[in-house]
Amino acid sequence: MATEKERLMENIVSLAKRRGFVFQGSEIYGGIAGMWDYGPLGVELAHNIKDIWWRMFVYNREDMYGIDASILMNPRVWETSGHTKTFSDPVIKCVKCKKQFRADQLDNKNACPACGGKLSKSQPFNLMFKTYIGATEDSDSISYLRPETAGGIFVNFKNVVDSMHPKLPFGIAQIGKAFRNEIAPRDFLFRLRELKQMEIEYFVRAEEWERAFEEWRLAMLAFAKEVGIPKKVIHELEVPESERAHYSKRTIDFEFDYPFGKKELWGLAYRTDYDLSRHAEASGADLTYFDEEENKRFIPHVIEPSFGVDRTFLAVLLSAYRVDEIKGEKRVFLAFKPAVAPIKVAVFPLLKNKPELVTKARNIYQMLKKHIPQIDFDDNGNIGKRYRRQDEIGTPYCVTIDFDTLEDNTVTLRDRDTTEQERVNEKNLLEILKKKLVSF
Ligand code: ATP
Repeated sequence: MATEKERLMENIVSLAKRRGFVFQGSEIYGGIAGMWDYGPLGVELAHNIKDIWWRMFVYNREDMYGIDASILMNPRVWETSGHTKTFSDPVIKCVKCKKQFRADQLDNKNACPACGGKLSKSQPFNLMFKTYIGATEDSDSISYLRPETAGGIFVNFKNVVDSMHPKLPFGIAQIGKAFRNEIAPRDFLFRLRELKQMEIEYFVRAEEWERAFEEWRLAMLAFAKEVGIPKKVIHELEVPESERAHYSKRTIDFEFDYPFGKKELWGLAYRTDYDLSRHAEASGADLTYFDEEENKRFIPHVIEPSFGVDRTFLAVLLSAYRVDEIKGEKRVFLAFKPAVAPIKVAVFPLLKNKPELVTKARNIYQMLKKHIPQIDFDDNGNIGKRYRRQDEIGTPYCVTIDFDTLEDNTVTLRDRDTTEQERVNEKNLLEILKKKLVSF
């Protein structure tokens, strides 16, 4: 028997597929482990998450610079950062069924959890995907799909300083794909092999790090609020020194209560001047910053807030999932904050077979669409079913055009969470919706 939490995950995965949020990667060929594809609604939800992040951390500040670096980089980047040597997980293989497991996640290291067979010794397994650049496949042409976006930020530090002349402290932000050849991809969007990250390297004077760390800790909690992840399901784990990366002086993991356990959602780390110093040493480039205020040159220290888009997406979906009862009937709905909702408004003519209603509804839809692009038009089936369909994808407001509209230009505006309806004048509709939708 599946537990309630297992059922919740099953319901989320099934809703995500049925309603066009997330599909299994290469599904018609039987899928491919660790890859998921975002469908028409998922791409909008993910876009909104990234948009809120960019607005909060780039547009709403004066000390942030965006970049978009290449996924394939000079392999020396990853040698210098230590990824080629140490970015690995311990793998154990079953001698009998050949299944592979992460050694640190096995309770019993003596028997295969799948078939009971004998297990091999634990071996480090590097998580970087290797590829070759150009026509020859030899050691000189090896490159890696980046395992984190941060590498692209560090190697562009000098370019941003030279082209933008930022004043310290300042940050560089990037959103993009990263790849990790995870031994055991699992739990839907939680452990992927192809993932998206939103990362910031925030450069500070050494003595400023504690204040900046605290500011970013609060900023990360503020972001959780903006995307609709309640504070009570986020737990800050102060990572003990013994478990921190050797260059990190302080790390906080922001954990989320997933149905499959309390696990990392985002991370915040103080990486000292480790990365820039290593890259300066290995590349020979001058990665110092000239501080005009103090009239001296030095390598800045860095605070790194790191967010996974996919884990955020999953946390937002889980946080929004609700089941209630309307007039004795079970209703599943997603209580998305308007800012993340993939569809903000749906417009319906009461009846499909009345051209005057359809025309009027389409005119209102077209008028709204110019201002609210994430909008839907639906004339299919009875009105109750249409409301349910929009509730299930988390549309905050529905607008229905009926015969009264033709007489007095009023429409019905329905609220997803309360299901309450009000009559509003068509000429005030856009302003009312804009006000209701602003949650940022
Ligand atoms: P974990 O311990 O769960 O493997 P990590 O500590 O290796 O995660 P980081 O290297 O700190 O993760 O990566 C930064 C962020 O990128 C994570 O907080 C998470 O949101 C996201 N992330 C990392 N690995 C994955 C993955 N395999 N699938 C989806 N998101 C990921």
